[in-house]
Amino acid sequence: VSTRKMKTMSAGELEAIEQEALRDYEEIKSRGMSLNMSRGIPCVEQLDLALGVLEALHARSEFANSNGDDCRNYGVWNGLLEMREIFSELLGVPADQIILGNNSSLQMMFDTISQGFTHGCGGHTPWCRQGEVKFLCPSPGYDRHFAVTEYFGIKMLPVPMLPTGPDMDMIEELCKDPSVKGCWCVPKYSNPTGVTYSDETVRRFARLHPAAPDFRIMWDNAYCVHDLTDEPAELLNIYDECVKEGTEDQVIIFASTSKISFPGAGVAALASSAKTIASLKGRTTVQTIGSDKLNQLRHVLFLHDADGVKSLMKGHRQILAPKFRIVLDALERELGGLGIARWSNPKGGYFVCLDVLEGCAKRVVGLCREAGVTLTDAGATYPYGNDPHDSNIRIAPSFPPQEELRDAMELLCVAIKLAAAEKLLAGRG
Ligand code: PMP
Repeated sequence: VSTRKMKTMSAGELEAIEQEALRDYEEIKSRGMSLNMSRGIPCVEQLDLALGVLEALHARSEFANSNGDDCRNYGVWNGLLEMREIFSELLGVPADQIILGNNSSLQMMFDTISQGFTHGCGGHTPWCRQGEVKFLCPSPGYDRHFAVTEYFGIKMLPVPMLPTGPDMDMIEELCKDPSVKGCWCVPKYSNPTGVTYSDETVRRFARLHPAAPDFRIMWDNAYCVHDLTDEPAELLNIYDECVKEGTEDQVIIFASTSKISFPGAGVAALASSAKTIASLKGRTTVQTIGSDKLNQLRHVLFLHDADGVKSLMKGHRQILAPKFRIVLDALERELGGLGIARWSNPKGGYFVCLDVLEGCAKRVVGLCREAGVTLTDAGATYPYGNDPHDSNIRIAPSFPPQEELRDAMELLCVAIKLAAAEKLLAGRG
């Protein structure tokens, strides 16, 4: 295997690599693989870690929480205190400033945007009556965030992601425009870059004074306890920083147990200032007579407290870390030194973020699909599905068994080499 940069190779050398990659590709394709790696979902062994959630209520004849509320009945608009206390410790916001939702934090984000759009944020004119409104979208980012803002017709402005988080110079500049109403953030082990925002980035968000009084930071802390190494990233508490700056009404924090217990059957939460919570209460109490307290109760019985969450996450790490290693080892072994790909080495979260040669991502994803491995669509990590460089690919190592993941990585690396050789040869005319 050559470790010279492919860009420095002669046409003859590139043709040799192309031929070899093509042969390997056809051989792998003939194996008839069938694997979907498009979403970052936990594998069966991870789901089994939380089976105790399902057993917790069977073992119990009492269904009351510590206040005596019968969890089988309606009521408690903001959710069980015991579960809010767990999120309080994980997110660093007082429990009475937390609203529990049902099984999806994404739905709570959607509802928050929806409320801003139809009823306005903090008593201001609804966004739908303000003409064109815009949202800042650190990119690459989480495609479902972008889907929400696109659904409401909110214009999305991409902001580059740096190793410290979003480009804050650009964010501060764009916020001078009063039609810019918010910013999506995944501040810890960001989807898909794996970046954790630096202290300075968090402080600059807290110090942000946007021209729009109804600007909201959508702080999606989905991966707050999802460490993969012994050196967990530390994220500064944005709420505390905002309180120091008097900007706490501006940030809304989201999280869920989707990747702690069960995706689609966990508990979601929203945290913010007392004032923002009061304004969200107005909608929430019209929308529902209460969230699923039985699910909250069984989560409390199983998790106990924030320490219970952290020890459960060690189990996830034991399953996930070797899979991340398989991905990183394959990339290094097959592509290291060729100068045709760069990738993240995340300390947590669910993704390895890969950048291939400009103009090659769609080709690579297409080659993999043809050979039976579905990756996240190229471009999906950018607003409107438009990666201006066509180079970003999101790798989600969690779901496949280790053997299948090895095969998929073999295919991916061959596809990257093939696409790069084609591209470089085309460039030589
Ligand atoms: N935010 C991010 C950044 C995610 O990656 C995901 C997917 N796990 C979600 C939110 C969805 O969370 P939920 O299941 O709570 O809707």
